[in-house]
Amino acid sequence: VTETSAAPDSPRPFTFEIVAHDRETRARAGHFHTPHGAISTPVFMPVGTQATVKAVSSDELEAAGAQIILANTYHLYLRPGSARVARLGGLHRFMGWDRPILTDSGGFQVFSLAGGAEREGLVEVDEEGVTFRSHLDGGVHRFTPELAIEVQAELGADVVMAFDQCSTTEASYEASRDGMERTHRWAERCRARWRELEAAKLEAMPQALFGIVQGGPYEDLRRESARAIAGLDLPGIAIGGESIGYSKALTRQILDWLVDLLPSDLPRYAMGVGDPVDFFAVVERGIDMFDSVLPTRMARNGTLLTADGRLRVVNAQFAADTRPPESGCDCYTCQRFSRSYLRHLFKAEVLLAYRLATIHNLRFCLRTVDRIRESIQGGSFLSLRDEFLARYGSAGSGR
Ligand SMILES: [Zn+2]
Repeated sequence: VTETSAAPDSPRPFTFEIVAHDRETRARAGHFHTPHGAISTPVFMPVGTQATVKAVSSDELEAAGAQIILANTYHLYLRPGSARVARLGGLHRFMGWDRPILTDSGGFQVFSLAGGAEREGLVEVDEEGVTFRSHLDGGVHRFTPELAIEVQAELGADVVMAFDQCSTTEASYEASRDGMERTHRWAERCRARWRELEAAKLEAMPQALFGIVQGGPYEDLRRESARAIAGLDLPGIAIGGESIGYSKALTRQILDWLVDLLPSDLPRYAMGVGDPVDFFAVVERGIDMFDSVLPTRMARNGTLLTADGRLRVVNAQFAADTRPPESGCDCYTCQRFSRSYLRHLFKAEVLLAYRLATIHNLRFCLRTVDRIRESIQGGSFLSLRDEFLARYGSAGSGR
């Protein structure tokens, strides 16, 4: 496949063009077209839970090179309310962000934030949907697959996700199978509602629905789920589950089980992958999109990501260090400020600390994925991977 030249009309929304394949791995580079512009893949998606990537503004995100961000349906449904966001012109206008947005379905938050195993009774799943208590005020709410699609239509993201029953790594085989089968039935209901809403749209922007592969840590279930979700003929496919992104070994194992079954002409999204070491691991297994709160959460805790691994800028050794957080980094923070200044801001607990550290960590991740994309196109993916990992070290373990 060759890259299309700049045509007067941009391709139909949600066309996915692959422009380069790596010869030695499954890595590929492409363009995913959305109503808010094309995304070059592979792509890292910063997470903007509450319609903001914490501590930075939309123009700072743009300056850091973010192509698409993720927002959380569960949080925005509870506050300020998706109907209100719709009345205010949708999420893009609400948060002053003109580039693509992906919203999750709320499933992961309903199961983890509102309830979770240790808070039994707050989440009740039945075939129709899920009843849960808000983590904000304890109010009782009910999500169904249809409602999750309607809420995401009100928010107006470019890419919306099917409502799934998130599998836990500890779940028994039977529980994982039940959750997976329900996820498949819910995905069909999501598709039906999404098609109705798309057909009824006049001026509103089209949205792409992605299905989510579940099945816990079990190979036969994961493969069955990949076949079922691929069979729905949706514009994209995601790999979900509690362990994805959180357990390095299991994430790689699951992707190895699935990769042959995922349609090669669709964008593939691994949910919850945010460690730079894992960027290489998922891209070489044929993944195009990934997201995580990890780089921004680490920034707010005073941990900077650099080519030499993680740097705890709050440590005493940086008190008089006049070097930028990362030499050679082109971000706003590294162009202007020193490690000693950042350490001081963190010690003084000044708000600017969180903003400057977030700008750097985002830029580091986005720049790393830019290099990955260029290396796929230039035929040097594996040498970049080996060079990066040798220098970065394996410090990048854990969440
Ligand atoms: Zn920087």
